[in-house]
Amino acid sequence: MGLGLSEFDLIKRYFTRPTPGCVLGVGDDAALLRVADGMELAVSTDMLVSGTHFFADADPYLLGHKTLAVNLSDLAAMGAQPRWATLSLSLPEANEHWLERFSAGFFALADAHGVDLAGGDTTRGPLNLCVTIMGEVPKGRALRRSGARPGEDVWVSGQLGAAAMALAHLQGQIILPEAAFAACAARLHQPQPRVELGLALRGIASSAIDVSDGLLADLGHVLDQSGVGAELAFDALPVPPALQAGKGLSRARPAPTKSTPVGEQAGVGAGLAREASCAGQSSLLIRCILSGGDDYELCFTAPTAMRAEIDRIAARSGVALTRIGVITSESACIVRAEDGSVMPITEIGYDHFRY
Ligand code: ADP
Ligand code: MG
Repeated sequence: MGLGLSEFDLIKRYFTRPTPGCVLGVGDDAALLRVADGMELAVSTDMLVSGTHFFADADPYLLGHKTLAVNLSDLAAMGAQPRWATLSLSLPEANEHWLERFSAGFFALADAHGVDLAGGDTTRGPLNLCVTIMGEVPKGRALRRSGARPGEDVWVSGQLGAAAMALAHLQGQIILPEAAFAACAARLHQPQPRVELGLALRGIASSAIDVSDGLLADLGHVLDQSGVGAELAFDALPVPPALQAGKGLSRARPAPTKSTPVGEQAGVGAGLAREASCAGQSSLLIRCILSGGDDYELCFTAPTAMRAEIDRIAARSGVALTRIGVITSESACIVRAEDGSVMPITEIGYDHFRY
């Protein structure tokens, strides 16, 4: 054994904080939590693996944020109030600078949402970050994937495609102008979970999901579980301002297959905002909007009678809410281009075992 930090010093120094929301927090064999009367416990786990979800040299502060953010996003999609989390870490070494920054990023977001870190596990091994998040939702009022009905509107919060475009830039598939890349990278590295929105949508949305694997993939889960289809208008899909010019260029072009040669997407130095953008770039953007992951926006359905109320929620929360299509009684999801044609979709989103 080295003379550095012990496992227990590490837990005490970096992961033990006051836990006013727990009966008993970090330090015993189990934490003790009390769910309020009339509430159900919402529980979700999400794991981030080095090399799969992030680069090994990623900024530890942002990793701490994202590790919790992706979990908060799941509770947001259930309309649950986050209360507690556990954190399981596998670390190659006890690097104090890394731990200090990681825990700072984690607790900054935890504090912002009133979440107590109630426990966890710490082992040596390949870098792997796993959070289990727990929250409360009034009995019977959680937003489920199974509630969408034909005739309802499909909505999405914020904008789509930015995180995937930043990743495409980092992977050398495209070169974004500097300002556009900065805007997209912020979405990739520091996603903002839509917790307040999820709470506001209780009793209003009929179903909800967070967009982590791509709009079509995640909406697809809602459609499957609800036994319905959807028709989306590509033109209505909200795109970050930094990428808007590129979306305009892409109108009515078919979405590419994943066999699109990488070279076709590498418009060296051109940037989406310029007319010089090539077809490959616009097709990459279409793919990022429809199927790109990591946006952590909420996609939800609601009866048309809720439109005015949803607009009020958007105004109050400062998060844009956009109507992007309708639920149908078909079994498929189709996307219409501006000219009314059905866009061919060959790739719906990220899947760890099929990509
Ligand atoms: P055990 O050996 O009983 O599994 P551990 O030694 O793993 O206990 O953990 C001791 C205490 O520290 C427990 O309360 C556990 O929940 C907590 N803990 C361990 N790792 C973490 C972590 N990364 N973050 C927060 N709490 C942790
Ligand atoms: Mg343990």
